[in-house]
Amino acid sequence: MIFKNNISIKKYNSFKVDHKIKKFYRIQSKEEMIKVKKSISKNEKIIILGGGSNILFTKNFNGSILYNNILGKEIIKETKKNIYIKFGAGENWDKSVEFCVKNKWYGIENLSLIPGSVGAAPIQNIGAYGTEIKDYIYEVSGINLSNGKSQIYENKLCNFSYRNSIFKRKLKNIFFITHVTIKLSKSKKLNLSYNEVKKYFRNKKSNEITIDNVRKKIIEIRESKLPDPKKLGNCGSFFKNPLVDFYFFNNLKNKYPDIIAFKNSNGIKISAAWLIEKCGWKGYKKDNIGVYKNHALVLVNYGSNNGKKIFKLSEKIKESVNEKFNIILENEVNIF
Ligand SMILES: Cc1cc2nc3c(=O)[nH]c(=O)nc-3n(C[C@H](O)[C@H](O)[C@H](O)COP(=O)(O)OP(=O)(O)OC[C@H]3O[C@@H](n4cnc5c(N)ncnc54)[C@H](O)[C@@H]3O)c2cc1C
Repeated sequence: MIFKNNISIKKYNSFKVDHKIKKFYRIQSKEEMIKVKKSISKNEKIIILGGGSNILFTKNFNGSILYNNILGKEIIKETKKNIYIKFGAGENWDKSVEFCVKNKWYGIENLSLIPGSVGAAPIQNIGAYGTEIKDYIYEVSGINLSNGKSQIYENKLCNFSYRNSIFKRKLKNIFFITHVTIKLSKSKKLNLSYNEVKKYFRNKKSNEITIDNVRKKIIEIRESKLPDPKKLGNCGSFFKNPLVDFYFFNNLKNKYPDIIAFKNSNGIKISAAWLIEKCGWKGYKKDNIGVYKNHALVLVNYGSNNGKKIFKLSEKIKESVNEKFNIILENEVNIF
């Protein structure tokens, strides 16, 4: 375990904002976490941190950051059809996807290039290009910081839904995830349902429709649309796509025939990027912060150290979307 006092959070968050942290623990094993837990006082505030690619710091933090750096991977079970891989929560997500793709284990290739750690993947049930991690999580292991006990959540106890889980709600900063076990298919099963992916593979020969080529295509699409956080501070989508009922949607569709939306079993999900763009925010830039020129859902930091400014911009965007469309956007990014 490595401990630091009064450090800057700048290199630990992909927005690249600069706020001060009182105590910082780099946790490298489950046992270390149990030990650290015993030394932290009951009333101390805690933030669990992975890659910092889905969290916006808006102020200094007077408590303890528990930075997850638990590494390792292990095949814990194999059947004729499936393989079960247990990853340390501090492993890099995309490197783990790459490892599975190289081994021809099918399921998570559409989640290529999502920044961050394996341990954060179940938190908001990461999803992209028609795939959600909830369909591949076997179990999530960790320590409940309220009593210091080890616990395992099987998939059905994780309460996964769109960009949500029990870990993002009830157990936020309480359950420290140490390992995630993923169940993948050993036989070829590719998800080409996303339009751009479908179009690309439509006329390809069957020997070209491979897991490696799907990963390559996903990476190509992502790189053409999203800013690289190493070059431009951001946290990907700042807001969730709002879910509305059919009646509400039809009224909007009559007024705005070009509206972008997707049907889902609970109603209609409207593209938050479309709503924000229609309010004129796409490409906005002022005081070193702004809205990405190629994607209105992504707020970007051109060099500000102050996360509060980004938060205030997000609130202004929400207000204007609410005024124009009567829709309240919900943050996808965790705000501190
Ligand atoms: C360019 C870009 C593109 C993105 N694209 C996508 C996308 O397509 N789909 C998508 O779903 N997300 C996307 N994201 C968001 C982000 O990458 C994911 O949410 C990712 O899972 C966050 O991982 P992290 O390790 O950086 O988490 P952090 O930002 O460190 O933490 C996120 C939340 O999880 C909690 N947490 C982290 N680790 C643990 C742990 N071990 N135990 C308990 N709690 C923990 C934190 O307390 C925090 O609340 C994108 C982000 C960027 C910058």
